[in-house]
Amino acid sequence: MFFVASAFRRKVWVSLRVFFVASAFRRKVWDCGLLYRAMATLPAQLLDELRAIVGRDAVLFHPEDLRTYESDGWTAGRTTPRAVVLPTSTGQVQGVLRVCHRERIPFVPRGAGTGLSGGALPVYDGIVVSLARMNRILEVDFANARVVVEPGVINLDVTGRVAGREYFYAPDPSSQSVCSIGGNVAENSGGAHCLKYGFTTTHVLGLEVVLPDGTVVHLGGKTLDAPGYDLMGVFVGSEGTLGLATKVTLRIVKRPECVQTLLAAFPTVSHASDAVSSVIAAGILASAMEIMDALAIQAAEAAVHPNYPECGGLLLVELDGPIAEVDGQVRQTEDICREKGATEMRLARTDVERGLVWKGRKAAFAAMGRIAPNYIVQDGVIPRTTLPEVMREVERLSAETGLKVANVFHAGDGNLHPLVLYDRRIPGQYAAAEALSTRILELCVEKGGSITGEHGVGEEKKLMMATMFAEPDLQTMQRVRCAFDPLRLSNPTKVFPRPRLCGDRPGEYAPHALEQAGVAERF
Ligand SMILES: Cc1cc2nc3c(=O)[nH]c(=O)nc-3n(C[C@H](O)[C@H](O)[C@H](O)COP(=O)(O)OP(=O)(O)OC[C@H]3O[C@@H](n4cnc5c(N)ncnc54)[C@H](O)[C@@H]3O)c2cc1C
Repeated sequence: MFFVASAFRRKVWVSLRVFFVASAFRRKVWDCGLLYRAMATLPAQLLDELRAIVGRDAVLFHPEDLRTYESDGWTAGRTTPRAVVLPTSTGQVQGVLRVCHRERIPFVPRGAGTGLSGGALPVYDGIVVSLARMNRILEVDFANARVVVEPGVINLDVTGRVAGREYFYAPDPSSQSVCSIGGNVAENSGGAHCLKYGFTTTHVLGLEVVLPDGTVVHLGGKTLDAPGYDLMGVFVGSEGTLGLATKVTLRIVKRPECVQTLLAAFPTVSHASDAVSSVIAAGILASAMEIMDALAIQAAEAAVHPNYPECGGLLLVELDGPIAEVDGQVRQTEDICREKGATEMRLARTDVERGLVWKGRKAAFAAMGRIAPNYIVQDGVIPRTTLPEVMREVERLSAETGLKVANVFHAGDGNLHPLVLYDRRIPGQYAAAEALSTRILELCVEKGGSITGEHGVGEEKKLMMATMFAEPDLQTMQRVRCAFDPLRLSNPTKVFPRPRLCGDRPGEYAPHALEQAGVAERF
């Protein structure tokens, strides 16, 4: 009741935020949860208004219902949202966002919640808008190789729908059996076969988006190269900070005539990495080139028994295309691998064998639970040619810190996924694991790479954005964000390195008076 009047509530919020960032008190207030409890639920009349828009069963506000939404696949952070709404149409999304806009309530879009950087982590004063119920495939157009889907459609279901006509949807994150197309668009997700076919952005042709003020806009379309700014390109990979995608037009691809999957065992990951560069330098464009180290092989074997050869570095190479071309490429790849020190090579002989090879690779993250109580999944990119030296450095850092690091990664793209293993029960190990994974990301940047290849920045890596970008770069990104979302309601606090202090205006960063006086800090 106390917080019903929106102008008053805003004022209270603003004051509380100032209080919150004052460094002496911030941690204490946060820890005892007073601030959170004061703002926990939405006022009854707002809940009623949201129910009138989406239906009674589509507004969750009981604490036990909200728990499911406290985090995504990045479980280091947890925040209970004030409510979760589950719209089923663009009109309903519009209605919900108009209420949020009027009441200045921040919102976090959510697909399937498999994100690994905390992108769908709720914000403490906001609601979650889950797109899980917008899960219809609206149109399949084989003549133009296009499919129009709602954002909650599961990635693998797109292929499932078109496979009968020998088509598939190419971007294949390892989570593809559970993650949503909306989440893929927001993260510009990749996968093993993106080496040849390209990331999500290559396969999205058009978007219907509800902007944070409730306006519906159409970006891109079914045809190529629309005039004007490439706003669709801006939206793909924007991690929910520019509004909500409510319809997605996707490109589908015809299945190749033949697929061959080669397993090559090497003594070390560095040997396997060296082979990757040589295969690509020979002009062979494999559809996938993945590497797993001994720990990753051990975990995958324990979980799904893919029967991989025992070795220090396993290279999976998939080649697809016309039979005559692929046969020659397989022989050439085998020759290169032999030259680079492969100790054993196997071709998957049947679809079942190929399926098992990929099952092992795609289960590798989750399989880590078999060999360690806890692990941090990292995601960085390096120029492919630096793979051998970077892998040696990761090995050295692992020995130095005494923490095991398993490696399973998209080698062809230079997209590393070091999995730092630790035991939370041992005092100090989580902090050490975090420090090691941050060091690995710094190494990626030092080598000319990136702090993320496909998992996004989200909450997890926002502080690292300043390691990679200069202030003018960040300011330009902020201006783009403000053009879509001047009130910063859509997934605020994510992606950028600092939360803006109260009194900040959207746009270029201007230090707050408290910050200038040394009372508050930027973090
Ligand atoms: C075991 C495992 C393996 C994985 N493997 C890969 C991999 O190989 N490659 C890869 O790229 N990722 C991988 N991921 C990460 C994750 O699956 C992807 O980032 C995926 O795209 C997230 O989709 P989601 O539906 O779960 O989105 P969520 O986690 O719900 O959300 C992700 C982000 O998208 C935003 N969002 C969601 N829907 C919308 C929408 N409709 N409009 C606007 N913003 C929206 C959210 O706000 C959030 O910022 C893996 C995750 C797991 C758990």
